[in-house]
Amino acid sequence: MNFAGKVVLITGASSGIGAATAVKFAKLGAVLALNGRNEANLEEVAKKCAAVGQKPHLVIGDVSNEAQTKCVWQDTIDKYGRLDVLVNNAGIIETGTIENTSLEQYDRVMNTNLRAIYHLTMLAVPELIKTKGNIVNVSSVNGIRSFPGVLAYNISKMGVDQFTRCIALELAAKGVRANCVNPGVTVTNLHKRGGMDAEAYAKFLEHSKTTHALGRPGTADEVANAITFLASDLATFSTGVSLPVDGGRHAMCPR
Ligand code: NDP
Repeated sequence: MNFAGKVVLITGASSGIGAATAVKFAKLGAVLALNGRNEANLEEVAKKCAAVGQKPHLVIGDVSNEAQTKCVWQDTIDKYGRLDVLVNNAGIIETGTIENTSLEQYDRVMNTNLRAIYHLTMLAVPELIKTKGNIVNVSSVNGIRSFPGVLAYNISKMGVDQFTRCIALELAAKGVRANCVNPGVTVTNLHKRGGMDAEAYAKFLEHSKTTHALGRPGTADEVANAITFLASDLATFSTGVSLPVDGGRHAMCPR
């Protein structure tokens, strides 16, 4: 895989999967625009990228906010004048069932996990058509299987998979590919930020040994490998794909 001279925009690059993906792209020669809200964390990731490749440009902003997403996009294109790969990775999780969720929760989760992707992709597509670039969205095993207790999250991720397939068909004739990855439980800050305390998170990771066929949760690096593969010239005949990176979890049934 070689991304020399390719411009890659990654949302949610200040932590977890997005941060690992940024470092991987940097190693592979990419020119990076990195988005997140936490500037200090983003600076740390940028340092790691600069140590193995080019120094990234930071495009700080909240992608659930329309005006800020426009700025993130404009800043990227003003800086580099082109885009080859868009990685829509930023996401949040919240717990809630149909009995105790709220419309505010629905809006928060959908705005970040789906509406922001819809918006940023709309903005980026004209440039991706020019470069015959591609899009990788970060969905989840929750996009293809159903789990109780994270209702809004499940729906948002299912939307990401459908969005990916639809735009793959719409853009295929223009030479733009669109794929998504569907991670299983991956060790990052997502669940703790979603409300799990340290003890609950340790139990959750232990339980993940039984809920993933390969007997463990995944790492951010393993997901980054799949993202860079789908974005690369090794995947030129793949579009509309939902690629599980979940230790076999999508294939499991209770028994
Ligand atoms: P982390 O919490 O470690 O990272 C989430 C990233 O998203 C952070 O960089 C955060 O930025 C960013 N982010 C969240 N909301 C916004 C926003 N409104 N605007 C800009 N950036 C935002 O979690 P992960 O790395 O695990 O999550 C990355 C993606 O992977 C998500 O889409 C998640 O749903 C998906 N995923 C994760 C799994 C897991 O088990 N970890 C499993 C399946 C899918 P900042 O901190 O700067 O605000």
